[in-house]
Amino acid sequence: MTNSTPYVGRYAPSPTGDLHLGNLQTALLAWLHARLHSGQFLMRMEDIDTPRVVEGSAEANIRDLVWLGIDWDGPISYQSERHALYDQAFDGLQAHNKVFPCFCSRKDIREAASAPHGAAIAYPGTCRNLSAAEQAKAELEKAPSFRLRCNQCEDDFVLKRADGIYAYHLVVTVDDLEQGITHVVRGADLEDSQAQQRQLAKYLAPDRNPLEYISVPLKFDEAGDRMSKRFGSESAQAWRDRGLSGPQLATQLAKDLGLVDGSQTLSCSELLDSINLQDWQRAVRQLS
Ligand SMILES: [Zn+2]
Repeated sequence: MTNSTPYVGRYAPSPTGDLHLGNLQTALLAWLHARLHSGQFLMRMEDIDTPRVVEGSAEANIRDLVWLGIDWDGPISYQSERHALYDQAFDGLQAHNKVFPCFCSRKDIREAASAPHGAAIAYPGTCRNLSAAEQAKAELEKAPSFRLRCNQCEDDFVLKRADGIYAYHLVVTVDDLEQGITHVVRGADLEDSQAQQRQLAKYLAPDRNPLEYISVPLKFDEAGDRMSKRFGSESAQAWRDRGLSGPQLATQLAKDLGLVDGSQTLSCSELLDSINLQDWQRAVRQLS
């Protein structure tokens, strides 16, 4: 990134349930990082994976973020309203012969890669070089998924599922490019998706500066368990039900990060005024 490129960051929850404290910590870190750079901060709902989306979750997630004290620039974008952009990107890749239909089931792939059940497996390339006639014949049997013909990644990952839903890597990369995102601060659980998204960004926008991906460690609770949505009691809603205010939770999260000593309750904007970028970097390092 050159100094003349303005910082644009984002937070992008999937509205598949309540936000838990780990989500809020990541949101707070992403927001602080953007604002410490005097950057813009955008809010995006990753609500395209329709079967998993829970009705009312998007509204609840937004309410929790506002309650915590996070603000953002411009309107919230919803992936479910951006199909035309994903179609356009997908069609462009297809026109450049970067996409091929795949007729394999999970079982086919596992067997072709001779991988044990449950192991992470790279796509063995079974359908990469099917002829047009072979494709047409296979299409009579089943609807294909579509994979990226990837020269520099570990495998040809799925861009569009057989049910027509665009895969996470495609929609996220298209959104990040289209919205001019420069920095992605997100949970370390998404670190594995960087290689694919970098590759895709290179295909979709070869002349653009690469995005900077910053992984922040996930919050662990006292028992050492990774916080997740299955711990219902640790949702933001549960904290609010116990009578806590947004600034009280923001202060608690900041204290856990070693950003403040917690002796004073600080709103998110007061917290922002009381720390600098070195503090932020130290906090993320000590979490790792
Ligand atoms: Zn295949």
